[in-house]
Amino acid sequence: MGIIGAGIAGLAAAIRLRLEGAHVEVFEAGDTAGGKLGELVLGEYRFGIGPSLLTMPHYIDELFELAGEVPSEHFRYRRLETVCRYAWEDGTRLDAHADPQAFAEEVERVLGVPAQRVLATLSHGREKYDLTGRTFLEKSLHTPKTWLTPEVGHALTRLHRLDLTRTLHEVHERDLKEPHLVQLFDRFATYNGSNPYRAPGLLSMIAHFEHGTEAGAFVPEGGMPAIARALHGLAERLGVIFHFKAPVAEILTRKEGRRPRAVGLRLADDQTVMFDRVVSNMDVFFTHQRLLPGAPAPKRVLAREKSTSALIFYWGVDDSFPELDVHNIFFSEDYPEEFKALEAGTLCDDPTVYVSISSRYDKCAAPAGGENWFVMINAPFATPEQDWPTLIERIRERVIRKLERMLDRPLRKAIVEECVFDPTTIEARTLSHLGALYGTSSNDRMAAFMRHPNDSRHVDGLYFCGGSVHPGGGLPLCLLSAKIMTEVMARQAPLSRRAPD
Ligand code: FAD
Repeated sequence: MGIIGAGIAGLAAAIRLRLEGAHVEVFEAGDTAGGKLGELVLGEYRFGIGPSLLTMPHYIDELFELAGEVPSEHFRYRRLETVCRYAWEDGTRLDAHADPQAFAEEVERVLGVPAQRVLATLSHGREKYDLTGRTFLEKSLHTPKTWLTPEVGHALTRLHRLDLTRTLHEVHERDLKEPHLVQLFDRFATYNGSNPYRAPGLLSMIAHFEHGTEAGAFVPEGGMPAIARALHGLAERLGVIFHFKAPVAEILTRKEGRRPRAVGLRLADDQTVMFDRVVSNMDVFFTHQRLLPGAPAPKRVLAREKSTSALIFYWGVDDSFPELDVHNIFFSEDYPEEFKALEAGTLCDDPTVYVSISSRYDKCAAPAGGENWFVMINAPFATPEQDWPTLIERIRERVIRKLERMLDRPLRKAIVEECVFDPTTIEARTLSHLGALYGTSSNDRMAAFMRHPNDSRHVDGLYFCGGSVHPGGGLPLCLLSAKIMTEVMARQAPLSRRAPD
């Protein structure tokens, strides 16, 4: 089995397929495993390049358990009591606790919204997840068996509870009413790169992942890149063979019957390696465009609207800000305007600013007395018209002024290291089409059905996992994509049950 890419889904796929007894080789263009989970070092400061928020770590534990290992011996994490610290320009400050009761009480204390209203909203989110999660997130949507279950039958009788005809924002206005709280909950749309004013109300289940009783935000020992290191280690112990700095240039196919069949890989150095099946963890758009140039492709699926991208400032800060937590949000004053600008392919002048400081829990990530700030604002996916150097210059100034104003203390001079990623850098560094963080957007009701399936309908023996295919982007879903892909593959042609050596 040949796997293209060692992103989190590629690693999970390698582990699962090896545990099924397959011979597995992974070809990774970069020099380390992890893809978007990579690391950036600036002087004495270390940063995770991409993800900063870890939810549902049990999907990582599951891989160690499947291999008969004790997860905590290789990968440790802890739950944060405060998921996020929120700030508004009018001086409102709110700590969102992971515990739903504590969160609801804090909302009542700060915003005067009855705690019961928040709890009811969270519990409605949970109901949506219970009704649809197992079908839409944990199974292939392209297998008839998925649809012929009692769960689907039950969900159909409860369709009116799913808010499919309202946008996420409309649901929050209806249920929460208070503007700060509506904005706080609307932000959950950005967790998969969507727009709360267009995304369906079903997505209100995302809040439940952060504030549900057994949910929350977690921090891994050693920072987010430790996730990739731990899974790479597990895969190697199981006997997966890794080839780094080994970009794949072509998926080799042979005409067999009506459709071509994937039979191997040609690497950039022209070496060819033959396999019975190929898995691509690479962005599905680039897989088709670059590795299968002449082959038929699912054009409509590949042309779907992309998720948002990001503008990220990695700042080594030579000062400490005890008033900040691990995750902090500084809201824009005009949220609809922010999303209008994104839809128009640009940035508004007052964006919502997310500041994540992993040195809060990983002391080695910054020198004593300093902090590693990952400062991110939502940005549109890349288009040829954008002039990023000019946009960055303008927005950097506004972001610094906004943070200094809302923190009421100087920041500019404390920034001693800096690196900036815009959508084009993200595309170049992480090889994701147009720099989209989460593959395709979830801005319409059909989004879940229109993601690329986990197997190819055009090339036999070719499979997909990762954020650009079903069930979508974000670490938990990428891990699930590897699980679904392995199940689809095993169903089509059973894998050898031979135990790994
Ligand atoms: P990727 O990480 O995209 O890796 C694909 C791999 O394929 C790469 O290593 C690449 O080098 C390799 N590759 C590509 N082409 C080739 C080729 N031709 N030959 C060989 N190898 C190739 N998710 C969260 O859960 N929480 C967050 O807080 C969060 N924040 C994010 C912030 C940012 C800035 C970004 C970029 C993403 C964020 N995400 C977050 C999303 C999450 O990072 C991704 O969904 C996930 O990491 C994608 O994993 P993947 O398995 O699809 O592969």
